[in-house]
Amino acid sequence: MAIPIDPNALQWVAMNTRKDPHLDALASLESRLVAAGRDRRPGSPLNAPLVPASNFVLGAGRAYARDDGTPTWEALEEIVGALEGGRTVAFASGMAGAAAVFDQLPAGSQLVIPDDCYQGVAGLAESGRRKGIWSVRRLPADDTGAWIQAATQSDLLWLESPSNPLLVVADLRAICAAPRKPGALLAVDNTFATSLNQRPLDLGADLSFQSATKFIGGHSDLLAGVISVRRDDLYAAVRESRHLQGATPGALESFLAVRGARTMALRLERAQANAMILAERLHAHPGVVRTRYPGLPSHPTHAVARAQLLGYGTIVSFDVRGGAAAADAVCSRVRLIQHATSLGAVESTIERRAGIPGQEHLPPSLLRLSVGIEHVDDLWADLGGALP
Ligand SMILES: *Cc1c(COP(=O)(O)O)cnc(C)c1O
Repeated sequence: MAIPIDPNALQWVAMNTRKDPHLDALASLESRLVAAGRDRRPGSPLNAPLVPASNFVLGAGRAYARDDGTPTWEALEEIVGALEGGRTVAFASGMAGAAAVFDQLPAGSQLVIPDDCYQGVAGLAESGRRKGIWSVRRLPADDTGAWIQAATQSDLLWLESPSNPLLVVADLRAICAAPRKPGALLAVDNTFATSLNQRPLDLGADLSFQSATKFIGGHSDLLAGVISVRRDDLYAAVRESRHLQGATPGALESFLAVRGARTMALRLERAQANAMILAERLHAHPGVVRTRYPGLPSHPTHAVARAQLLGYGTIVSFDVRGGAAAADAVCSRVRLIQHATSLGAVESTIERRAGIPGQEHLPPSLLRLSVGIEHVDDLWADLGGALP
């Protein structure tokens, strides 16, 4: 499948080659998070300004924001691109970005998504299937052989690793290396890992996706999505989808996402250390039937996680003894931990996932805990005190 791109879209490839060569010299992603997305010309504001513009004075290439972007979106795109090792397109939300990936599929395509998959992405796949645009296969993310086999017959492999909310880790390196049907695309939802723990483009993926609503923003105050690619044709194609579908990020949201990204490494480091300690304590607690965290040696895909991830992330899922009612009771007893959906923020949040439409396959007593940056002793006092 060659991606049929409007020749006009290729202009964006040329327009968006502004890249700070200084960034490549930085050995660490932590430093790139801080240094990227800044205009270094003398007299420029140190931080990318919030530019609430729809249009620009003609004559210098940039005319209309939906077509040509804004300096605020570009700061976010440069930061994420520097982390993922590619070129990034920012969207109004994670789902807007996912829709731009699915938009690359010609009618009659076959797409493959994991059994355990973010419910919005599964819903998007299902809506296209219902309309007869594509067919959908679902495979267990840890069945590497099944994915390798599907790669020769499918047009898009959409992987999510670690997965939401069961935290299954797929062997991305093996699946990316498998021979594919000509033109087939492989995309990885990198939201749970973040680009600090996993760089899908390095592992061989064509597209790396993240909901920037989560760790990049990090403060539960914005919606945004990002797609990173290395290939120029894919960059142009994804930009074209954003332009035609109008799925552009907000100015304030992009500004806040840049602000959030600056501290992402520190937030992740703290939250991840908290998550490991809480996972171990949950694992040992009599009120918990099963703890799912890729960092625990008991986790079914721990070996792949250890080989593939730099860190095990900040999400811990666990099954409470006593079923759905007992799990709901935990959510109503916690005080420091917020009873709320979403994840990847400074504040810890907890939610019973089987209560959500499309998530009926989950154990009824499964709670998904997104661990924040509070002190771990306070978190454990709150959580331990709420368990049955
Ligand atoms: C939140 C999330 C999405 C969707 O992102 P939005 O910003 O909510 O549109 C996709 N994948 C995963 C794993 C997510 O957690």
